[in-house]
Amino acid sequence: MIYLDCNASAPISDEVMEAVIDAMRTTGNPSSVHAGGRAARTLVEDARGAVAQMVDAAAQNVIFTSGATEANNLAISGARRKRIIVSPVEHPSVLQAQTDMEVLTVDENGIVAPELLEIVLENSDECALVSVMLANNETGVIQPIAELVEIAHRHGALFHCDAVQAPGRLSFSMPSLAVDMLTLSAHKIGGPRGAGALILAPTVEIDRMIKGGGQERGRRSGTENVGAIVGFGEAAKRIPEILKGAKRIQSLRDELEERVLATISDAVIYGASVTRLPNTSNIGVKVGSAETQVIAMDMAGIAISAGSACSSGKVTSSHVLKAMGLSEAAAQSAIRVSLCPETTKSDIEHFLNAWVSHIKFVKDHADAA
Ligand code: PMP
Repeated sequence: MIYLDCNASAPISDEVMEAVIDAMRTTGNPSSVHAGGRAARTLVEDARGAVAQMVDAAAQNVIFTSGATEANNLAISGARRKRIIVSPVEHPSVLQAQTDMEVLTVDENGIVAPELLEIVLENSDECALVSVMLANNETGVIQPIAELVEIAHRHGALFHCDAVQAPGRLSFSMPSLAVDMLTLSAHKIGGPRGAGALILAPTVEIDRMIKGGGQERGRRSGTENVGAIVGFGEAAKRIPEILKGAKRIQSLRDELEERVLATISDAVIYGASVTRLPNTSNIGVKVGSAETQVIAMDMAGIAISAGSACSSGKVTSSHVLKAMGLSEAAAQSAIRVSLCPETTKSDIEHFLNAWVSHIKFVKDHADAA
């Protein structure tokens, strides 16, 4: 299997897997006082330190959750702000976290204009929460977060940022973005599915969403998912090394795009003219649906996505591409190829051969019809 769907979920290395298995072998609730409990607590706290260090945050401000979906919901529901302003290209876990949110517009690349946020915030005296992601999961397009944060803070607004797709691809830290809350997910960075984190800036406090035994300093109850959290921490420790390979991944991605454009004359790369993640390519063609392309590639042993994985189970077109002004038909034809740290030149060759011949086949049949 050639796996080019890293934005949906990244592969887990053997070392991370072993750490998870070892952690699951320890018996004990991290809240228990006995030796087993203390051992589990040590594992959780070590992972907390590693996740915090990855983004230069303080460990005590890391709230482990069941994933980024819960972290995004917690940030938005827990922020104690009635007025919530989001971008239209956010993940559904932000867009559906509350009703009555104000949705900004984006330009043709999916970017929120800082001037627009300024105007929207000037409109009301009510202190808001603004939520804009760092890098888009479908296009890889990066938002001007530091500029948006500066405007938000000037207007007394809190700023939440879903940074799920950024670690290992982009060099960033929580202080450099100056955001008040940051969302991360383990399985996007080489950890297991089912763990994530909401990280708070030192002065920020939130209302809890899940109530119970008071774990995570009372901010998120429930016995910690020790195995998944340990895997999250181990994956976080490997991010600096993975980041060193980002240039290699970018040149593979760029080569892929050059060859796509050279062979399929009407192909389009969405977001290509702006700063993007180095591993992501969102490709549109004039004929053929994304679904058919994904199935054809799957039959050739290649994993890619149609839009985001969250919506690819259903036949709905991408809300991200539509917010960027694409027609329904154009949004229905776009595929996402997302490279992993392990991706090789030969993986790209295999994809190009299979995909180009599929598109040529579809075109020939469309011309004949
Ligand atoms: N935000 C973004 C940008 C994502 O790409 C995803 C995963 N598709 C999520 C949030 C949700 O993450 P999780 O699977 O950890 O709930």
